[in-house]
Amino acid sequence: MELVRATSLEQVDGGIAIHGGTEVVPLLRDGILQTEKLVDIRGVIPRGVAGNRIGAGTTLAELEVDPQVPDALREACRLAASPQLRNMGSIGGNLLQSTRCWYWRLKYPCHLHGGDRCHAREGEHREHAIFANDYCASAHPSDVAAALLALGTRVHTTQRELALEDLYRLPTVEERELVTLAPGELILELELPPVDASVYLKAMDRKRWAFPQVGVAAARVGGETRIALAGVAPVPWLLDGVDGLDAATPLPRTAWKVEVARALVRRAVTSVAAK
Ligand SMILES: Cc1cc2nc3c(=O)[nH]c(=O)nc-3n(C[C@H](O)[C@H](O)[C@H](O)COP(=O)(O)OP(=O)(O)OC[C@H]3O[C@@H](n4cnc5c(N)ncnc54)[C@H](O)[C@@H]3O)c2cc1C
Ligand code: SF4
Repeated sequence: MELVRATSLEQVDGGIAIHGGTEVVPLLRDGILQTEKLVDIRGVIPRGVAGNRIGAGTTLAELEVDPQVPDALREACRLAASPQLRNMGSIGGNLLQSTRCWYWRLKYPCHLHGGDRCHAREGEHREHAIFANDYCASAHPSDVAAALLALGTRVHTTQRELALEDLYRLPTVEERELVTLAPGELILELELPPVDASVYLKAMDRKRWAFPQVGVAAARVGGETRIALAGVAPVPWLLDGVDGLDAATPLPRTAWKVEVARALVRRAVTSVAAK
């Protein structure tokens, strides 16, 4: 396999982009990703925080300690993965991580692998989605994406500027990708509008180094509070107000997540109202 260390955006031409590699390397090892060419993009992706702009190459470890970063994002980074992974993992790569659905990781021929069924819906799905789970019941694993969604983040790529929610789409039989980036399109920067207060709360099956069972981010601007959830739908989920959980469609063994989410949403909203 060829490894190209890009020093200009023009050199990012074909192959698979790799930044920290914490996601790409395991997927290559497991044969889920295959390529003849890896392009190391660390030399061309902005890194660091400048006011309300965050380079997509900034690591989670850098973000969790930066006082310029809003509370919700700092906390989402601090609670993600392990210190070693946060040292290597970039925020751009985090937003584009693949599902942790065990059927997908074990290469079952499910909808997201081009097959004709969702094995999780019919099988073991305790950790899966409570919203938008009819075609693919996977639960988006990014704490960071939920925080950025609540914060109203804009994404700047090599081709366009878009709202963070437009980076994702629900999979369908015609389009099974969960991310809307075009081939070769790279995330360069994230732009965070100012908020008055924000928070990120996370339920996990142990206190450290675990993906969110449910993650809840809330951000308040004046009297308006935006709430976004991780671990509840195939994409990061913007909740339609505090009563938005009434619209959940849990699977037989995911109803417990609705109650966990309700409790976290209540706490998050109270917390940003008091700040
Ligand atoms: C064991 C484990 C536990 C974890 N726990 C959590 C957790 O609790 N919460 C959480 O939120 N995350 C968790 N993560 C995810 C982790 O944070 C991500 O793997 C990491 O942030 C990815 O960043 P990276 O730079 O290593 O990405 P890479 O592996 O280099 O890339 C990941 C993907 O993004 C693409 N990519 C990378 N940068 C760009 C860019 N700038 N533009 C376009 N495409 C790009 C790559 O092509 C690839 O598809 C965990 C990961 C592991 C392995
Ligand atoms: S939840 Fe999604 S990724 Fe998992 S088996 Fe079903 S279709 Fe595949």
